[in-house]
Amino acid sequence: MDESKNFINKKNIIIVGVVAFIVLVIIILMLTFNSTNKNKKNNNVFEEEDNIFRINPVKNPQLAYYNFRGEEYPDWSKFGRVRSNGLRVHQGVDIFAEPGTDVYAVADGKVVDLYVDKTGYGLNFYLEVNPADLEKIKRKHYKPKESAREQLYGPNYNPALPIKYIRYAHLSEVKVKIGDEVKAGQVIAKTGTTGNASGTHAPHLHFEIAFEMRGKGLINRVDPEMYFKIKNGNNLTKDEKKIQTEKSKTQWFEPKGYDIGFRTKSIFFNKEKEEKNLKGLKEEHKFEKNKRNAQKISRRK
Ligand SMILES: [Zn+2]
Repeated sequence: MDESKNFINKKNIIIVGVVAFIVLVIIILMLTFNSTNKNKKNNNVFEEEDNIFRINPVKNPQLAYYNFRGEEYPDWSKFGRVRSNGLRVHQGVDIFAEPGTDVYAVADGKVVDLYVDKTGYGLNFYLEVNPADLEKIKRKHYKPKESAREQLYGPNYNPALPIKYIRYAHLSEVKVKIGDEVKAGQVIAKTGTTGNASGTHAPHLHFEIAFEMRGKGLINRVDPEMYFKIKNGNNLTKDEKKIQTEKSKTQWFEPKGYDIGFRTKSIFFNKEKEEKNLKGLKEEHKFEKNKRNAQKISRRK
């Protein structure tokens, strides 16, 4: 009797032990399955974001792999504190493009400013779009990978501000004027190397996204890579890199007379200040004239 009781007790202990072991194994399996599943989910989110239908500013957009001087410097093309060891900022991204490449409206919009900035943006313009259209294509999980100095937002960014301005710069030709309404996918310009891009070894479209049209440095601007999937250094195919290398051997200058017929200042450029200056000049003239007249009169006397 005693022995059989003992036997039953031992059996119970073994059963409890085995059950406990199985439960433990199941828990461990569930935990690992859950975490791999989570990773998968995250990856899916990235893929979904990247597969959203977008109209890119140029076809097959790639960041310029070379800098102005033709040196390998892929970070040079990114948004943020990416130049001169973080001392100089870049207000947009530089998308590699041989001069004369078609430039597209990335969304429906209206041209709100267009001018030539001879020492900076060259022939450039702003498209105002519906912020909701940009929000739709936003890569919400985008993180800068290639450059630690790449930034996502200018320092004054505030999520309450609608992002609605797209800027295209260093163009050689525009097919729009201020006030024009354009449709997504419409060819609106041709790339170039005008303004301070003249003489570059890395022909590109300078492309900005902003929530206000003006602002120094990174103020009012955001990283265009948060909205557009632009191939970076490591992701370029051999052929793509070869083409960029080939084009970097040429120094690309702006065509003469590209600026003829365009205004040389933004329509928002200190209108009042200019008017005041003009008024001041007129008054000065008047004053001088009066003075001369007074002198004449006194001489006559
Ligand atoms: Zn640029």
